[in-house]
Amino acid sequence: MPVPIICPLCKGRLADLVQRCPRCGGDLSSLVKLRDFANRRFNAGLRMAKAGRWEEAEEAMIAALTIDPTDTEAKQVLEKIRQKSAGRKRRKRPAPTRERGSKGTHDLE
Ligand SMILES: [Zn+2]
Repeated sequence: MPVPIICPLCKGRLADLVQRCPRCGGDLSSLVKLRDFANRRFNAGLRMAKAGRWEEAEEAMIAALTIDPTDTEAKQVLEKIRQKSAGRKRRKRPAPTRERGSKGTHDLE
């Protein structure tokens, strides 16, 4: 799904993230680098998730989303990672002990 890219200089929509804005001629190379970094974090997150390293995967996805909060794909993956890691933690926990009633309930059993 193509995400619209807004030039920070002229606020014009760009079809693609390019080094130089075709509308205002502004230098967007830092934006390209940032997007590239976000993509790398996203890919690293996917790899970590496949390896079952949920904490690292989550960190990488959060980093990608911090750079590009409009990345819905990263959001979906992060959601899955959190579900998986939560499930893992739940399974690790020992069986829940019985809830403690108020004093005196033992007499009723
Ligand atoms: Zn521009």
